[in-house]
Amino acid sequence: MKRDSSIRPTASALLSRLVDGEALVLLPAVSVAAFWLGGEVALLTLAIAAPVAFALIGWGKRVRRASIPSAGLTGFATETQLVENLDTVLNDVAVHGGTTACFVVVFDDLEMLADRHGRLALDRVLMRTGERLGVSLRAGDVVARLPSHGFAISFAPIRRFDLENAVQMAARLQSSVSAPLPVDDMTVHPSVSVGFCLADRAPALLGASLLDAARCAADEALRNGPCAIRAYQPEMSRRRADRAELRAGLEAALDCGQIRPWFQPQLSTDTGEVSGFEALARWHHPERGIIAPSEFLPLVEDTGLSERLGEVILYGALSALTRWDNAGHRIARVSVNFSASELRNPHLPYKLKWELDRFSLTPDRLTIEVLETVVARSDDDVIVTNLAQLAKLGCGIDLDDFGTGQASIVNIRRFAVRRIKVDRCFVMRCDTDPDQKRMVAAILSLCEQLGLSTVAEGIETPGEHATVAQLGCDHVQGFGIARPMAVEETFGWIARHEAGRQGAIRFGQLR
Ligand code: C2E
Ligand code: CA
Ligand code: CA
Repeated sequence: MKRDSSIRPTASALLSRLVDGEALVLLPAVSVAAFWLGGEVALLTLAIAAPVAFALIGWGKRVRRASIPSAGLTGFATETQLVENLDTVLNDVAVHGGTTACFVVVFDDLEMLADRHGRLALDRVLMRTGERLGVSLRAGDVVARLPSHGFAISFAPIRRFDLENAVQMAARLQSSVSAPLPVDDMTVHPSVSVGFCLADRAPALLGASLLDAARCAADEALRNGPCAIRAYQPEMSRRRADRAELRAGLEAALDCGQIRPWFQPQLSTDTGEVSGFEALARWHHPERGIIAPSEFLPLVEDTGLSERLGEVILYGALSALTRWDNAGHRIARVSVNFSASELRNPHLPYKLKWELDRFSLTPDRLTIEVLETVVARSDDDVIVTNLAQLAKLGCGIDLDDFGTGQASIVNIRRFAVRRIKVDRCFVMRCDTDPDQKRMVAAILSLCEQLGLSTVAEGIETPGEHATVAQLGCDHVQGFGIARPMAVEETFGWIARHEAGRQGAIRFGQLR
């Protein structure tokens, strides 16, 4: 719903109007009335009291404003000061016309900055970024540093500030902070996303509401980043409330078995046999149905529940392996995805060994999937040591989404990787697009040289399946073979797949 951009005056706005000196136009009339009613004494009292009163009120107001650091000056306002300033500006524009806005600027990858450069460097980057923001603003604008490591900006009254101006301003702020920043002996390339709310779009004409709406837009921008810009829309508040509800139910969902793994098969290209299953988390929500990991994994990270999710998925994966064994299916291994924070747990090898022993399974039956971005970024000794110990124990280590994260060959070796998962972005259309085919061929030949096994992800068509097999890829996985399914469905699927495979072998023998 679009609202009128003019802002209605309130009682406090009228007071502010008087304080701002507009009452001076009434002074001659008041003086004449005072003289008529109270004679010379009343006139004299008014003549002394009026300037004193205006001076005191005006001074008080100036003191309140001056205590908030303005853009371009050193130091930042606090969140409370920014909200106060927004309230004042909203009152001003209600009286004098014009409008304002609140912007929130957030770093696209704060954790990566901290991981790579350390907390001290991060603090310096934040400081310099805030200063750069200040330089690109006008004197009356206010920059506040938020506890979440972002920045919020309140704008001094401005005659016109529409969506187009605001997007241009956001882009200007982004480019003002994106110049390379020398920190110690390294260069940091800060990248930020920006959310904003124009005064006439705020849920309520209050500073706190304007800041909250800009924050909501910044969260949305961050989810769509890097370098995204989003204007506040009321649907964003609804989506945030939905997420808050999901977050509140997350721990209970993990405890009561609503979150469990589904399984997607992997086939050997040599024999066509099922060589393994990848465990993929699903939330069986009582009202919303099946929720995909993209929707709840960020909440899991935010709420510090990664370890709990890991335990639930690992337990589900090892139970499934035992059930396949008991049903007489020969499934060599199950693969489980591990996040960077889980891999940073120094007790991880011990925990995995304990779980494997509990199910009487040998370590070679479990493969740990690690994202290429984790391997590429991390100099984290705990992750390196954990993976080395797990590899030594006999677990497989798969490098997930290969080709998207720029891992060096040195890191592939350091992280004891055994198998590469060629990302779907290379596999798609590799049967019809020669460039794609060349990329897949290059990756496979690199892996062969390094003695690494391979699996192609996201196989959707028989053409893609045949092409990667012909190029020498060892395993395949994708919707073209089967979508992820609940463990109960895997038994029927395996039986049908085996029956089809035996039929194909017999057919091949007859020919
Ligand atoms: P991933 O590990 O790369 O998993 C493959 C994703 O691609 C899965 O999405 C799968 O359903 C999807 N996929 C498989 N074949 C095809 C295909 O042919 N075409 C297309 N378009 N997609 C295909 P899903 O299950 O939504 O998982 C998304 C991501 O969430 C996973 O990507 C993984 O990074 C993460 N994830 C899933 N489960 C867990 C978990 O238990 N723990 C952690 N840490 N991450 C998980
Ligand atoms: Ca994976
Ligand atoms: Ca993947």
